[in-house]
Amino acid sequence: MNGADGSRVDRLVAALATAGPDASPLDAYLVTNLVNVEYLTGFTGTNGACLVSNERRVFLTDFRYAERAAAIQGWETEIISGLWLEGLARRLEGRTGFEDDQVTVRTSNQLKQAAGSAELLEAGGQVERLRRVKDPDEIELIAAAAAMTDRLYELLIERGLSGQTEVQVDNWLTGWMREQGAEPSFPPIVASGPNGASPHAEPGPREIGPGELVTVDMGVKLDGYCSDCTRTFATGNEGDLDSLSREIYDVTLRANEAGLAAVKAGADGAAVDEVARAVIREAGYGQNFGHGLGHGVGLEIHEAPRLGPSSKDELIAGEVVTVEPGIYVSGATGVRIEDLAVVGEGGVERNLSSVTKELLFI
Ligand code: ZN
Ligand code: ZN
Repeated sequence: MNGADGSRVDRLVAALATAGPDASPLDAYLVTNLVNVEYLTGFTGTNGACLVSNERRVFLTDFRYAERAAAIQGWETEIISGLWLEGLARRLEGRTGFEDDQVTVRTSNQLKQAAGSAELLEAGGQVERLRRVKDPDEIELIAAAAAMTDRLYELLIERGLSGQTEVQVDNWLTGWMREQGAEPSFPPIVASGPNGASPHAEPGPREIGPGELVTVDMGVKLDGYCSDCTRTFATGNEGDLDSLSREIYDVTLRANEAGLAAVKAGADGAAVDEVARAVIREAGYGQNFGHGLGHGVGLEIHEAPRLGPSSKDELIAGEVVTVEPGIYVSGATGVRIEDLAVVGEGGVERNLSSVTKELLFI
């Protein structure tokens, strides 16, 4: 269970003063996104909600979770029997914000209809905003997930890649994670040779040969928190690798380092992206980097903030973000290098990815 504690819900309650439309105040807030529910209460189950106001903190679930609900500290618990949405709606009072970015239009209409005199207002994103900045316990949990991922990279480096299919490597990576009591935080990417040209390649039956690049992007979910790290390896001997692959590796590495050097509290997500992107553009590969530079990581593998050309986010100390530039050459090869960094006041406070970024031939 994560370190959910009262200070998170205190911060949520404080935010209600301006959380309504046009920064109007709300009386209460209904949290239905299960990741947000977990963040506030520590509850991990398939059905639960939080109703939060100045006066009350109520955790709602159904009979299956009655026992788990009773163990949640600092919250009144109520068990909803019968129809879930009606049960929620019956408990709403006054101006209540809800996570309009998380519920379907149909659910939202049903809730509004059943809410009686309570006024339901679109006010999504409140808990996501709190989740951006990690508390020290969360940073340690993410660091532990990252350390496990680093260990797996070390084992992969010892084991090598040549002669196996992408699927075999993927199965081995995923199997190891499960043996350690973790889960993949997303399906690992093992993209060899020309498959590396696709940023989201799925592992396939292709056998990894000598003299090619192999991009491995993976992370674990451990005690609720995710890690995310990409390394690109070469196979065979140094002389086997073509000069294009070598060149795009070096450019991507410089972009990764420039991006990391630009990460600090107060920097704009778009500006950090541009620092790394400029390195790639100036090397002549501007058209070959088609995704954003990075994203926040926490309870979810992709969360706020975003580092990318259209990001409106300004970095805050305590956020954990990836820096993952890539160069993808269609039909030929690709590189991505991704680190996981804790944002500090004056720069990266801690790089949680410790696997070497020197091009290894494995
Ligand atoms: Zn990744
Ligand atoms: Zn990532």
